[in-house]
Amino acid sequence: MSIINLNPDEVTIQIFCKTCQTEIEVTIPRLVIDNAKSFPIAHLHLHGDPPHGLTLYIDRHYGVRGTELSEAVTIEKPKEIAPLTSLVLLRVPKRLKQTALAMLKLRQGSAIEVANMTGKDPAVESQYLGQLWRMGYLIRTRVQQHYQYQIAQANP
Ligand SMILES: [Zn+2]
Repeated sequence: MSIINLNPDEVTIQIFCKTCQTEIEVTIPRLVIDNAKSFPIAHLHLHGDPPHGLTLYIDRHYGVRGTELSEAVTIEKPKEIAPLTSLVLLRVPKRLKQTALAMLKLRQGSAIEVANMTGKDPAVESQYLGQLWRMGYLIRTRVQQHYQYQIAQANP
């Protein structure tokens, strides 16, 4: 693995995915790592067709200590999809705005990662993400016991 880009907001890591048999690039907002309470953090990256997950275990210096593949993922699409954009953000209820803004930067992530970005409690972010999912702004994917949220796409 190697860090291929580090800017004030994000870090981009290149890592080999055994399922894809190729190097993939994973971009993570630095706040997710910088504000983590313990290390390594687990960052799940969903990608590919069929979709699968690669979890990166990242230390405080953005080094990848290990990876784990998840082949069994269950995608839970909302009934109505309303892709989240900066414009759509204006319609999002006020209490959910910070969460939605974090998701726009994160693109995909868990409640813990969103909590690292907003400074709120992961349990609160879990509720807010669930609400954004029900409103159609996010797609939710279950990987083992965990939920990963992604920005919904207009034409998936
Ligand atoms: Zn892959």
